[in-house]
Amino acid sequence: MSIFAKIITREIPAKIVYEDDLCIAFHDINPAAPVHILLVPKKPIVSLDHAAPEDAPLLGYLLLKVAEIARKFGIAEKGYRVVTNIGPEGAQSVPHLHFHILGGRQMGGF
Ligand code: 5GP
Repeated sequence: MSIFAKIITREIPAKIVYEDDLCIAFHDINPAAPVHILLVPKKPIVSLDHAAPEDAPLLGYLLLKVAEIARKFGIAEKGYRVVTNIGPEGAQSVPHLHFHILGGRQMGGF
């Protein structure tokens, strides 16, 4: 069970900012920007590489939820960054699909 699954079941506390039947969003414990929120599907998909064709509606839903959360946290007007890390070379540390929503400062290039 991943650490995010434990946040979903409330075994581990988190600063939750949004939750519904399909997903949960909470502040990253080690923020890389003034706003750094993680959006996590409740379905335990390991990463985008593990998503199946039947997950397409869920993935679309999550991306629209990212934009909704960004607007709610006041970072949409100036702009923000959405990141999902995949596997070892992608520097994914938690094996449960999640989208980083980063904003509140100027982002650099890759
Ligand atoms: P990844 O490296 O897998 O893309 O991102 C995992 C993120 O989860 C990291 O930014 C890390 O700071 C965050 N994180 C890891 N453990 C916890 C935790 O227990 N609580 C919260 N809120 N964030 C966590």
